[in-house]
Amino acid sequence: MPDPKYGAAHQALRREWKDRVDAGGVHCHHLPECLEPDTKIYPGSRWDLGHRDDDPTQYTGPEHPRCNRGTARIWKQKAEQADTYQWFT
Ligand SMILES: [Zn+2]
Repeated sequence: MPDPKYGAAHQALRREWKDRVDAGGVHCHHLPECLEPDTKIYPGSRWDLGHRDDDPTQYTGPEHPRCNRGTARIWKQKAEQADTYQWFT
């Protein structure tokens, strides 16, 4: 069953990336500012599908959960400054 929190596009993209993460060699897409000491995303580890910092409607690729949450904080700050909070809620 698909997770109702996410759309079909997100699901399909996440499946695609999962194959690549499981094969190894994928690095965190939260660059150049990955928050972890090791940018590699290890097969079997937790990861989030990241968004572009400048355009939250665009997906980038796997990020460490910590890095992804950092991005969400940046959007919130930007949205509050721009008074467009409803845009992503
Ligand atoms: Zn990272």
